[in-house]
Order: sequence, then structure tokens, then C-alpha cells
Amino acid sequence: MVAETNHPLDALVSKIGKTDVLACYQCKKCSAGCPVTPDMDILPHQVIRMIQFGMKERLLNSKTIWLCASCETCTARCPNDVDLAKVMDVLRQMAINSGEPLGDSRVPFFHSAFLSSIRKRGRIYELEMIAKYKLKTREFKKDIKLGIMMFLRGKLKLVSSKIKGKKEIKDIFSQAKKGVTG
Ligand code: SF4
Ligand code: SF4
Repeated sequence: MVAETNHPLDALVSKIGKTDVLACYQCKKCSAGCPVTPDMDILPHQVIRMIQFGMKERLLNSKTIWLCASCETCTARCPNDVDLAKVMDVLRQMAINSGEPLGDSRVPFFHSAFLSSIRKRGRIYELEMIAKYKLKTREFKKDIKLGIMMFLRGKLKLVSSKIKGKKEIKDIFSQAKKGVTG
């Protein structure tokens, strides 16, 4: 059950995320177990506190929401069943919907290139995905050495491989889209 709230942001995130952000008592277990805290600008337990305080703009501009790897360690550890991984999902979607510049646009660009490849081919075609990502980020020189090494080791194929079940994968995307817009 979602508790009564003082801030619209509390209510919204709790409702969409189907979790009660007011149940958090700041024990910090989530942050203690999170593998990406060294790179975050706001720690996971602080995310929840800032939601409680209604600090929407600061949260939606943060790098943290894009660095979260959705590993669900925080969710599994929380003694109060706060689904922090889901909360991060909600904040990411809110940031995209806001139309404002994102705290770290590279991650959504990567997600978009990754999903576009899966939607189209049913699996990743690495060269196409990297090309789309690089066109968006304009970081053409970055990772060249890594790319060459991957190519030499056969990790980057020149031609994409075919898979069965592409129709089923397209259906999954359609269903997911209906879930978001429906
Ligand atoms: S583990 Fe749960 S209760 Fe503890 S700080 Fe994190 S979200 Fe709050
Ligand atoms: S789901 Fe995100 S915030 Fe939670 S532990 Fe994993 S990376 Fe950290």
C-alpha cells in the first residue's frame, strides 16, 4: 500500500513505481550494496530522500539515474521493500519525458542503439549499434583501440547473423510499447 504523501513527486514515483518511497528510513543498505556508487553523483539512499523532499529537477538532471545498472541489489537488500531499481526506472522515464537535457545523455543513446538493433534484427549487430551510438555522441575517436582489438578477436562481425523468432521479438516490443503508452 502506498502511504499518504506531502510532495507530488513522492506520490507520483510511488504510484508509477508501485512502491512506497515514504517507507524508507535511511538505513543506507541500498547504497552499501550498490556496485556503481563510486561514479554516482547522488547515492541511492539519497535519491529516495530527495524524492521525499520533492527535489525533482536535481534528480532528473543527475548522472545517477543513468549510471544505475538495474541490478536490483538495492531492492533485494531494502528492509522496507522499497523497490529502488524500479524508482530509478521511473526517474529515467520522467527525465526523458521532461524534454530537458539529460544528466548523462550517452547512456540513453546507448540504450536506444542497443534496442534498435534488437528490434530490427532480433539480436545485436555490434557494428551497426556502435555506428548509431557514435553518430549520436559524436565521440568518434574514443574507444578506437578497443574497437580494433575486438575486431581482431572476432568480436565485431562485418555481417550480422540471422536468428529465428524475429516476429516474436517484434511482438514483445509492440506489447512493451502498449504497456508504456496504454
Ligand atoms: S535500503 Fe531501503 S530503507 Fe534503507 S535507505 Fe535504502 S531505500 Fe531506504
Ligand atoms: S539497481 Fe541501480 S541503484 Fe540499485 S544497486 Fe543496482 S545499480 Fe545500484
